[in-house]
Amino acid sequence: MEMNETLLQDLMQFLQASETPYHAVAEQCSRLEAAGYRRLTEAQCWTLEAGQGYYVTRNESSLIAFRLPERAAKRFMMVASHTDAPMLKIKDQPDLPAVNGAKRLNVEVYGSALLLPWFDRPLGVAGRVAVRTGEGVAMRRYASRRPLAMIPSLAIHMDREANHGHDIQRQKEIVPLYGMDGSPDLLAVIAEDLGVQPEEILAHDLVLYNTEPPRLWGARNEFLSAEKLDDLTCAYASLVGLLTARESDSIPVHIVLDSEEIGSSTMQGACGTFVRDTLMRIAEVLGWTEQEYLTAVAESFMLSADNAHAAHPNHMDRADPVTHPRLNGGPVVKFSGAQHYATDAVSAAVVRRSAELAGIALQSFVNHSDHRGGRTLGNIFVQQVSCHTADVGIAQLAMHSPYETCGSADIAPLTALCRTLYSTALCEVIPGEFTVHIS
Ligand code: ZN
Repeated sequence: MEMNETLLQDLMQFLQASETPYHAVAEQCSRLEAAGYRRLTEAQCWTLEAGQGYYVTRNESSLIAFRLPERAAKRFMMVASHTDAPMLKIKDQPDLPAVNGAKRLNVEVYGSALLLPWFDRPLGVAGRVAVRTGEGVAMRRYASRRPLAMIPSLAIHMDREANHGHDIQRQKEIVPLYGMDGSPDLLAVIAEDLGVQPEEILAHDLVLYNTEPPRLWGARNEFLSAEKLDDLTCAYASLVGLLTARESDSIPVHIVLDSEEIGSSTMQGACGTFVRDTLMRIAEVLGWTEQEYLTAVAESFMLSADNAHAAHPNHMDRADPVTHPRLNGGPVVKFSGAQHYATDAVSAAVVRRSAELAGIALQSFVNHSDHRGGRTLGNIFVQQVSCHTADVGIAQLAMHSPYETCGSADIAPLTALCRTLYSTALCEVIPGEFTVHIS
């Protein structure tokens, strides 16, 4: 596949620059700027030019980028992924009383995290901080870029049952150490790094992150491991797909939303109005009537890009009897009878036909019938913008661990699939016969 090595190195840089959703959005903004995309803000009226790309953010943690075609636009071709991942969130008052000389942090679990892998890892602190200024308040992005904390395990000698299953008590055990008596409070450390006084920090959205950098490994570098592969690999593939797509009479829309791991019910999440507001604004600036907007949405398509579970080689009993997605087997189309994934026959056919035309192999995922499985933003998004949607991602292991694993050969085909969909014009999607045109 095309320049897989270059793409992988670039992806690893992207992952390392994206400690939190704020950083992932900032990294994408600078890449979009470098590609000539212009910044829009929701608090100002928009004017748009044909042939030009634009981007807009909400809450600094969600991003939408799009490009208007030179010719008259007919519909939206969207790929949506998410910026957030399960994480340890630092509470409003970060410092716990010292115990046995050790200063510790007060954290809560964000999203459905696998907790065991958080022990014995060097952890950094990152997020955003609200700082009082002469005029008002300034939001400052922050990443320690060095280990500040760790959650040491209890020694086996003090818990002989440690290897036989363990109920983790979060308020007692998920408590990182970060200093000893006499060490400054956490916000004092951050204030020093930011060059402000501790009392100037009014509020913060800070988390702990894994400082282990992304790594390729295996006999032939078959594997890529990093924090937040779910879902920054998809965000990356979608961004590169947008920046390299060919023009059609569709408007390509790259959507990356926060809050997926906590149910999407925020103003910047998929339950919020960010996508619908943005599409309606584009329609309004293009001079479309409401009727024309609805016509465009009826002909539009969305790829909900979020990673899939590979069947785990050590736990094949947890997989469906016959459907076994594997690492490096190509992007995975996800199905769920309960529609926890939005894919159906129409949207799966669009993706499979597009992949065929682009020469990309696909796999499928379904749950083992005794397991409820996961969810994603696709079937939430369609409550705001109702169009045909398919759930697709790359196969991975250890989902929601702070160090996840995927196949290194799967990034290029997912990128190619996103590029193909962004370059596609779909005709007569509903109902009956439809045509997939790849320009
Ligand atoms: Zn995800």
